[in-house]
Amino acid sequence: MTEKTMQAIVAQEPGGPEVLRLSELPVPTPGPHEVLVRSEATGVNFIETYQRSGVYPVDFPFTPGTEGSGEIVAVGSEVTGLRTGQRVATAEATRTYAQHFLVEADKALPVPDGLDPQTVGALPLQGLTAHYLVRSTVAVQPGQTAVITAASGGVGGLAIQLLKRIGATVIALTSTPEKAETARRLGADHVLGYEGFAEQVRDLTDGAGADVVYDSVGRTTFDESLAATRVRGTTVLFGGSSGQVPPLDLQRLNSSGALFVTRPSLAYYTRDREERTWRWGELMDAVVAGQLEVRVGGTYPLADAAAAHRDLASRATQGKLLLLP
Ligand code: NDP
Repeated sequence: MTEKTMQAIVAQEPGGPEVLRLSELPVPTPGPHEVLVRSEATGVNFIETYQRSGVYPVDFPFTPGTEGSGEIVAVGSEVTGLRTGQRVATAEATRTYAQHFLVEADKALPVPDGLDPQTVGALPLQGLTAHYLVRSTVAVQPGQTAVITAASGGVGGLAIQLLKRIGATVIALTSTPEKAETARRLGADHVLGYEGFAEQVRDLTDGAGADVVYDSVGRTTFDESLAATRVRGTTVLFGGSSGQVPPLDLQRLNSSGALFVTRPSLAYYTRDREERTWRWGELMDAVVAGQLEVRVGGTYPLADAAAAHRDLASRATQGKLLLLP
């Protein structure tokens, strides 16, 4: 028997973190192809700060959240293969800043027994992202060189580890000595600051540049990322933590090494249940085998979602921030 009401975060209008307020809402009812999950951990992600502030348009009143994990407490009439009591995680739900959330059955990822809720809750969005970036956006090969920005961050720290498992050389970019230390501990071969990094990447690659540069910082790094990429290499812009990159004149690619540039998004790399469960299965296997460290950088009561947003935007955090409803 589930409760009738629940606590959830609601923003009535776009604005700063203070618009995220705790409210009482009805517990939603699953549609035929959905399951209802009682949340154990809610992932806080950069996209929610863009949505909250109005950079990415959403309808208000707005309950943020795409990521969550917990126990299934109700199952839609057409759902097969999932049952109440089972633990699942997802990167592709909506309104997960709440004690309960709905997720399409196809987007509910199975969780092996025995894993602690925070590890499970910290992995879906950043893990699936790191996985598709290094396995599919560019299928990185052993011996290739990859640069990753915000390397001690959530996606960055996982990407370092996945790249090292492939056998790539990893050049990590971070902004402080503490973050540099984290990147080194996670396996980065070289750790640089952001200032003039393209030239340093060229120095480390006999003048060639990196096979792939993964750039989530965006506005303040993108030009250097292009300059750090080798001839016919790929610059992957996958975020805008410092702001969005202005429009790119494609003619620049002609004069700077016939580069490939892509701006991927998770939804296009989890296109069906098969692709999603392949990526998740590999991540879970690595976690269970103790080969993938999932770092939780901070936990907050649901009511303190605003503080989590402030901390994420402050650039001071490392690893995943979680709300514990
Ligand atoms: P992070 O843990 O990476 O946190 C953001 C990091 O960005 C900071 O710690 C900081 O690291 C760096 N940064 C650089 N400049 C700034 C700035 N001006 N303000 C704040 N941070 C800055 O977050 P996530 O791992 O959750 O996400 C990383 C990025 O990936 C985000 O941009 C997000 O939107 C994107 N993303 C994209 C997805 C996709 O499919 N395209 C999916 C998931 C996330 P440092 O100090 O070391 O520079």
